[in-house]
Amino acid sequence: MILSGREVADHIQAELKQKIAPLPHPPGLAAILVGDNPSSSTYVNMKRRACAKVGIRFVLHQLDRTIPQEELVDLIQTLNRDSGIDGILVQMPLPPHINPNPIIEAIDPLKDVDGFHPINLGKLMAGLGGGFIPCTPLGIKTLLEYYNITVEGRHVVIVGRSNIVGKPLAALLMQNASGCNATVTVAHSRTPNLAHFTKEADILIAAMGVPRFIKANMIKEGAVVIDVGTTREEESLVGDVDFENVEKKCAAITPVPRGVGPMTVAMLLQNTFLSYERRHI
Ligand code: NAP
Repeated sequence: MILSGREVADHIQAELKQKIAPLPHPPGLAAILVGDNPSSSTYVNMKRRACAKVGIRFVLHQLDRTIPQEELVDLIQTLNRDSGIDGILVQMPLPPHINPNPIIEAIDPLKDVDGFHPINLGKLMAGLGGGFIPCTPLGIKTLLEYYNITVEGRHVVIVGRSNIVGKPLAALLMQNASGCNATVTVAHSRTPNLAHFTKEADILIAAMGVPRFIKANMIKEGAVVIDVGTTREEESLVGDVDFENVEKKCAAITPVPRGVGPMTVAMLLQNTFLSYERRHI
């Protein structure tokens, strides 16, 4: 079975559009793009188009790549105070002269719709509500739920331990909460004999950024495979999973593109609406 993130994302966006239409003023999402990295511009454009579809006001702050760190912090603080802005995102990566950590920490945690602020990551880790869950992990959980794939009691193996995917995804799926309760293993580049772990997975999640790395002989027959990886090769996007061969062996798999990517964007919209609800409704 193909797990179509595109289909689920469209469904979520249609629901959001209905909820947003009657509001007295639209939720506002501010995006900060520093420099002219083509991939970053593509991602920001995808987010802009998705906001337009559901009726979220998207405000882009496009800044020169030489902007000093303090000026970027000043802009974030202005947006923190702006009552028309419900969500703030800073498109990564930032130029090398800017340290991303103080930038993320400058965002008001109540407007941190990417969920990368240490307060929101801490709330997720502690199992506390009221924060924002990072969009890719939340999108993966939502996608699995949509297709009635339960993670409870199953062995989820995540390959990749980044702060935006692997770590928060592990924290989310292992929570003692309904729809979670997975047994989670996190592997990374220093994991010896990676295939030993991936073959144990009921649900394998690849978030490495290494094209076609996960081969059919690395997975268990009938596993569910979620491919987070997106590497641009010429004009196409390639995932971390050798889709053609793995598809024949697994029970369900996400494609690249149209898999996890659209879910990430849909969760950004959902988090922005959630922020609006928390402050206005
Ligand atoms: P990242 O920060 O580069 O992290 C990659 C992780 O994979 C690291 O933990 C790394 O291990 C591990 N890894 C790399 N090569 C490995 C190998 N050969 N064996 C085992 N582990 C390996 O990347 P990221 O930001 O998490 O993104 C991962 C991929 O997902 C990228 O392709 C990115 O474009 C994509 N992505 C997609 C979405 C989406 O919405 N579809 C969202 C976010 C990211 P170490 O920690 O030991 O270095």
